[in-house]
Amino acid sequence: MKNILLVIAAVAMCFSCKSNQEKNIEQQTPKGGRPTATELVSEMDSNKDNKLSISEVKGPLADDFSNIDSNSDGFLTLEELNKGEGSQGGRPPRGSNANKDLSAEINISAKVIPVNTDYFISENILDGIKKETIELNGVETLCYVFTTNSRATEHQMGPWCPRHIEDGMDKAGIWFEDGKVYDVSGHFIAKLAEFYSDDKWELFRADGTIKVTETEEECLGAAKPDVEEEYQNYCVECLPEFFKNQETTFVIPVTPKYLNSTQSFGRGGIGVAFNGVNFDPPAPTHAILAAHTIAPLDDHGGHVNPHGGYHYHAVTGSIKEIEQTDTHAPMIGYAVDGFAIYGLLDKNGKAPTDLDECGGHFDDQRGYHYHAGEPGGNQILKCLHGLPGYTEVKE
Ligand SMILES: [Zn+2]
Ligand SMILES: [Zn+2]
Repeated sequence: MKNILLVIAAVAMCFSCKSNQEKNIEQQTPKGGRPTATELVSEMDSNKDNKLSISEVKGPLADDFSNIDSNSDGFLTLEELNKGEGSQGGRPPRGSNANKDLSAEINISAKVIPVNTDYFISENILDGIKKETIELNGVETLCYVFTTNSRATEHQMGPWCPRHIEDGMDKAGIWFEDGKVYDVSGHFIAKLAEFYSDDKWELFRADGTIKVTETEEECLGAAKPDVEEEYQNYCVECLPEFFKNQETTFVIPVTPKYLNSTQSFGRGGIGVAFNGVNFDPPAPTHAILAAHTIAPLDDHGGHVNPHGGYHYHAVTGSIKEIEQTDTHAPMIGYAVDGFAIYGLLDKNGKAPTDLDECGGHFDDQRGYHYHAGEPGGNQILKCLHGLPGYTEVKE
């Protein structure tokens, strides 16, 4: 069932981006939420029989056709498509909370710890951190507002793609599959057909050089859901320099408000590291892989896209941390709802065992807080349990 949800999410992303060629692969479903099963069927159902045959679908939906076709009759019906969508643990679809009034959801009995702005690396904040009252989902909320270039300064950014099949792991970043992290090397790229059991993978030329998106134009052509034909079978890499004038503004409640219900992610970042780089929702690996491309993260868990610059999909221990006085894992940043995010493992190398559906829990010292997911899980947080702030990118 988990696979089906991933496929639906990936299809939703492709679908929403189809009407706007400018949209980036990482961009969230626009306001109004992802398409319903009805919308998916009406979009793809070329013979208008109100169900989808294998010849009518493409991309990730085609790849997982047999999983979604639960009665194996060769057609995806509205019911089968809805089954995948509806089983999200009661969570609303992505982006659907954008205009929802959440004032009645606030749980005032929960202990809260305000955001500590001293933790941020001040040179990375462009014009200081201001306080502004902003309405978030029907709740007037005092927020911190600050802008960054989304650049890491405490560690190098990159490398991502190797250039030759003989390049070692030091020339490239990491990739993940089924919860595991893999070091990318020339050898890894050369063996992708074997890795994914699919002969169509061939990211290298006869002379051993690897096909890498080298220019901004190539990055724009490859780093989107409808990967242009000429960049299929590429290692996708965008450089921070391509988007150096981009600015990301973060709006985060000064004092987080715990909500009884969980919130799915809206558009943009889900949190921020102390260096001002945003934590992103999961990378849409289904769409990336469907085009026989990979978009490695660097060893620090980050890569660049045209609509947000450098951002993290994994926490690997490279970024600034705030050590705790007890054995608890160090703090690594804030979610956009103002609750703190901590590393996964405590000083004894143990992960918490009582995390909720979002990856959070309470303790006396820290109140409600999150723990980042495993680096190979492509998911720093699973959802938000606080009144969400937001991020905005100006190009
Ligand atoms: Zn990304
Ligand atoms: Zn904890």
